[in-house]
Amino acid sequence: MNILTFDIEDWWAYEYYKLGNKVDWLPRLNDYLERILDILEVHGYKATFFILGEMARCAPDVVRKIDRAGHHIGSHSNSHTFLYKFDYAGAEEDTRVGIDSIEQLIGRKITAYRAPAFSISDENKYIFEILHKYGIEIDSSVFPANRSFGGFNNFQTDRPAIVEYNGIRIKEYPIPMVTLCGKSVAYSGGGYFRLFPYGMIRSFVREHDYVMTYFHMKDFDNKQERRYKGWEREPAAIRYFKTYYGLKGSFGKFQKLVKDFEFISLQEADNLFDWQKQRIINI
Ligand SMILES: [Zn+2]
Repeated sequence: MNILTFDIEDWWAYEYYKLGNKVDWLPRLNDYLERILDILEVHGYKATFFILGEMARCAPDVVRKIDRAGHHIGSHSNSHTFLYKFDYAGAEEDTRVGIDSIEQLIGRKITAYRAPAFSISDENKYIFEILHKYGIEIDSSVFPANRSFGGFNNFQTDRPAIVEYNGIRIKEYPIPMVTLCGKSVAYSGGGYFRLFPYGMIRSFVREHDYVMTYFHMKDFDNKQERRYKGWEREPAAIRYFKTYYGLKGSFGKFQKLVKDFEFISLQEADNLFDWQKQRIINI
């Protein structure tokens, strides 16, 4: 199964992206969002949109538009603060407000979650307890490799599994990996999707029977202003490369991908999945 997901966030809110005029980001997000919603409609696909609580409050029309088109909506935290920056109480508050803001707006219970920048790791796995407390049943926050802002490299699988922690259970849909030069890397979203040529991505998708994509409007926006600056212990040259490489061709690659393969939302995938047969991972 190929699962289509998008993370919807106000990237201007992060120090690194504070460029140009604040009023600029929403029309740019809207531009790609509209195009994507049209493409999904043409193909008859539903997708999952993980949305920030902040978006529900500052741009409610964006959330309503996604909801009206019948897509599955999940939480992407409240403020996009990387979870390892919080203590338990801070992480709980951010999770609670993030979920609540979207539920208030769309009038339905939110049961799916993705952490900002996949920032759940072995050190802050108590987040699963918090997610369970606020009604999350499905999570897609595990990036089972090393990563700049998170990564759960000792999570034992890159396939859907049941996470068991402190007596609670959550269905986990991790980001799938490929091994290149002995290193585990992703291919189905973010910088990796921008980096790899389309032919390579197509063969990775063909080879795998579980594909979890993760796209951001920012990853398609070639007109965005560029900043050459280090961030969170990363030198400027590396950060620049990771943030902007491949922006020019990425929307074209996305269009090819949804033409070449069939996609479903996380909700549809979850309805099809036989959870009785899946692995339980104790963390
Ligand atoms: Zn995000």
